[in-house]
Amino acid sequence: MKPYLSQNDPDPTKRKSLLERKQGEYEFDHDFLPPIAMLKDVPSIENFSTKYIAERTIETAELPINMLAVKTRSLWDPLDELQDYEDYFQVLPKPHVIKTYQTDDSFSEQRLCGVNPLVLRQIKAMPPDFAFTIQELQNKFGDSINLQDKLAKGNLYVADYRPLAFVKGGTYERGKKFLPTPIAFFCWRSSGFSDRGQLVPIVIQINPTAGKQSQMVTPFDDPLVWFHAKLCVQIADANHHEMSSHLCRTHFVMEPFAIVTARQLAENHPLNLLLKPHFRFMLANNELGRQRLVNRGGPVDELLAGTLQESLQIVVNAYEEWSLDQFALPTELKNRGVDDVNNLPHYPYRDDGMLLWNVIKNFVSEYLKIYYKTPADLTEDFELQAWAQELVSNSGGRVKGVSSTIGTLEQLVDIATAVIFTCGPQHSAVNYPQYEYMTFMPNMPLAAYKQITPEGTIPDRKNLISYLPPPKQTADQLTVLFILAAYRYDRLGYYDDKFEDKEAQDVIVTFQQNLNGVERQIELNNKSRLIDYSYLKPRLVTNSISV
Ligand code: MN
Repeated sequence: MKPYLSQNDPDPTKRKSLLERKQGEYEFDHDFLPPIAMLKDVPSIENFSTKYIAERTIETAELPINMLAVKTRSLWDPLDELQDYEDYFQVLPKPHVIKTYQTDDSFSEQRLCGVNPLVLRQIKAMPPDFAFTIQELQNKFGDSINLQDKLAKGNLYVADYRPLAFVKGGTYERGKKFLPTPIAFFCWRSSGFSDRGQLVPIVIQINPTAGKQSQMVTPFDDPLVWFHAKLCVQIADANHHEMSSHLCRTHFVMEPFAIVTARQLAENHPLNLLLKPHFRFMLANNELGRQRLVNRGGPVDELLAGTLQESLQIVVNAYEEWSLDQFALPTELKNRGVDDVNNLPHYPYRDDGMLLWNVIKNFVSEYLKIYYKTPADLTEDFELQAWAQELVSNSGGRVKGVSSTIGTLEQLVDIATAVIFTCGPQHSAVNYPQYEYMTFMPNMPLAAYKQITPEGTIPDRKNLISYLPPPKQTADQLTVLFILAAYRYDRLGYYDDKFEDKEAQDVIVTFQQNLNGVERQIELNNKSRLIDYSYLKPRLVTNSISV
């Protein structure tokens, strides 16, 4: 297919009629989960291919064998030890985190390179509405650390789950589920791993909405009390991960871009050709998610802490705060105060993510320069202008952080870079670690099955188990998250369809070479890390949100 900008097409009449047909096939639905713009019906051309279905079936073949082996066992042995949760891995590999999940190192690393490395935020003052002063916090630590000094130097961070406190909890067969919404404080200290320094957890307040009624728990408390506090953080993080970081801020926020691209850019428009592989199977996949993940009685309803409506409200809240420009990686890191490598030297998601961001931006820029040589090429491209207009319009994509007219190449490069990064690396970073971190319940269950007490006191081990999912929910969480993380359709920068223009082909070859460079750099980065971070290795990143 020979690419042409809309104003240069030798057959504008045919192009216009093909595009009008597309507009009938791809229609908006603003009512499924208002105000999010979604697709009404999935056109058959967007469906999963036979290759996709066959490969994905093979990748998940071990699951039924594994679950059969588990079920015969758990029927007779109720869970009464943390180790019992290891027995759910009969055929499937045991996650590595099983060996380390009780340690503070693992807890900190999961903020920096786990399944949801997107919550940690630098603080310059005590968080608003936090019940304790820095001095009261200091009193907990004696002379071992100077928190006032750490705060002044920008070495204090929080993971703050208070925005989820509206969730009151759903139910299951035997009672209620609960969502703790703690605030956890971390400190960057310059000594520690390999003389590089490390992030350490210092305080968790389990129920901040109770003010001073809820104690501050520290690593100096009883080990079970401290572990319970960390578990509360993990549960909150799991709910934030699935509804906010994963479902909303990759799957759902990218859907309008796929719809508007199909409706407003002809199939031979250079921008459509660039973006299309990054939307492959996303519309079908999102529709499947609406039917089989967030349906009544489905996995989100069954496994997450809130009622279905509360969990969907987390999605809507995450959507309201999202915009393409503020969530572009460099800006998003800056907004959380974690962009400075000197201040926070160890942050694998940031460091590997920026490598990918830069090579994607370079690729997008070189590709678009082939077609847009002057500002007039942009302003006269009426399809491009209609694309931008429909992206932001209330009857269209309702996208924030994008301008309704595109006057400069930089503007377009910024949009396309953020879209490709979100569909590729960002989705891979939150999707594929689900197996490692979220299938072994004592590390990261999706709900608490016992009321969290404000004091956070845990009398004994037996009591700790009662917070964790019962056998059925354990098996179901493992099953669903295994299925979501087992299959990769393709690989970033490698495309099924050949680009016709020689110049575009050359730009893609350079992109692939740069991605190989990133691969080697990440391998080098991993040599100085406590645990390998592989989820942003270009070989393991997919082009699109295809699972
Ligand atoms: Mn996904």
